[in-house]
Amino acid sequence: MADRFLSFTGTAPGRFLTRRLGLPQPAALRRWSPERPALDGTLLRLVAGKPDPDLAAGLADVLARTGPHPSGAPSGASAAAPSGTRPERAGAPAGQPPAAVVLDATGVRDVDALGDVHAALHPVVRSVAASGRVVVLGAPLDAADHHQAAAQQALEGFTRSLGKEIGRGRTVNLVRLTDASAAESTLRFLLSPKSAYVSGQVIHVGADAATAPEDWDRPLAGRTALVTGAARGIGEAVAETLARDGAHVVVLDVPAAEKDARALAERLGGTALTLDITAADAGARIAAALPGGLDVLIHNAGVTRDRRLVNMPAERWSPVMEVNLASVLRTTDALLASGTLRPGGRIVATASVAGLAGNAGQTNYGASKAGVVGLVRSLAPRALEQHGVTVNAVAPGFIETRMTAAIPLFIREAGRRMNSLAQGGLPVDVAETTAWLAHPASGAVNGQVVRVCGQSLLGA
Ligand code: NAD
Repeated sequence: MADRFLSFTGTAPGRFLTRRLGLPQPAALRRWSPERPALDGTLLRLVAGKPDPDLAAGLADVLARTGPHPSGAPSGASAAAPSGTRPERAGAPAGQPPAAVVLDATGVRDVDALGDVHAALHPVVRSVAASGRVVVLGAPLDAADHHQAAAQQALEGFTRSLGKEIGRGRTVNLVRLTDASAAESTLRFLLSPKSAYVSGQVIHVGADAATAPEDWDRPLAGRTALVTGAARGIGEAVAETLARDGAHVVVLDVPAAEKDARALAERLGGTALTLDITAADAGARIAAALPGGLDVLIHNAGVTRDRRLVNMPAERWSPVMEVNLASVLRTTDALLASGTLRPGGRIVATASVAGLAGNAGQTNYGASKAGVVGLVRSLAPRALEQHGVTVNAVAPGFIETRMTAAIPLFIREAGRRMNSLAQGGLPVDVAETTAWLAHPASGAVNGQVVRVCGQSLLGA
């Protein structure tokens, strides 16, 4: 379903009219393409507070390898100049807007240092290019130092507020880290056009050593990925994106979708596997079909049976629980227990903003998707320790698919606009986020629930 309003605001009369009427001003988002894989422009690195020198050095190395190109030495309120002064943009061609700004606020330990955050970003935020990126780096909250914890928690309110006001297709995210190289895949993702619809997120990256792939353009080469519900919609985009990244993709869907599943598998050089994921022996059948093992398991299959609870018979409750949650638990358990998921493996489950914020008419769906979040948070540390497998979730907001095309016009229009980017996301936005979590270098990203929702106002 085309977003005609977005096309209209892309024209001069459309911009004029919608501005006069005070309507939302969505900007056409710049997404990844083989011809334009990186953001256009330079990366501006700023510092607030006093970061650990080792972390700062590691960060400089990582950013030097990460497009867009760094524009010179770090500058910022406390590192390069006294607090409150305008940061220098060494090396950047005069007048060229930065495509991305990285603010290292890991050394912010008190309220005074928070002033550096303001001093660093206030003068430059206006100049960030359209569809540009602001990434704030924070430290884990220190349980023994409530001043540090207050200052670091403040970064979340700052990031989410800036995300809501920055406009022009620009995104703002916060990454909490202790080791820059462990965060390389995360920074590459957030500083690229692949993260076009991810904004207002707080992502924790642990300190586990990251395995850099031989080829950052084909990180999944030699790996096998299985995507459930892959015959269409978001699952199809996930399968395409993982294949682009080099994976052999197993396209799983119900027998009724066999024709589409086979066609997609053929196109991607993968394999089709038709079975109902709710079958009691689904895990065993997947394991039998993958004697060589599995590296990436994407739980994408999902269904809705919307009704308000007062009108919801059990027949509308149980299929949603079975597909969206029970089968995710069962197949995860089976594939871990059988050793089908190899060490270094990745599980990415699909939650939903409805599972985080709740949604009228979706008690069944909201419960099932909140259940996915519980599964991820509980299993992640154990799966990593016992199997070397990470477990994360994506939580899509309003994504342009058949599911959302079926929503009545006015509710659909409201759903599309109720986020900081004032538009719906595309299946590829969920797929790119999934591919980052599935990346071999994302081993330190574990137990995270990342919303792909353009910073939806629901549950924000
Ligand atoms: P979709 O209905 O277009 O596709 C779902 C796919 O899952 C279909 O191919 C279907 O055949 C398959 N499937 C359903 N039951 C299955 C089963 N028992 N066994 C195997 N395959 C099964 O849905 P979509 O919009 O692409 O959504 C994909 C996922 O994203 C779902 O988990 C959904 O809940 C979630 N999600 C979507 C949105 C959105 O805006 N579209 C928002 C939040 C979350």
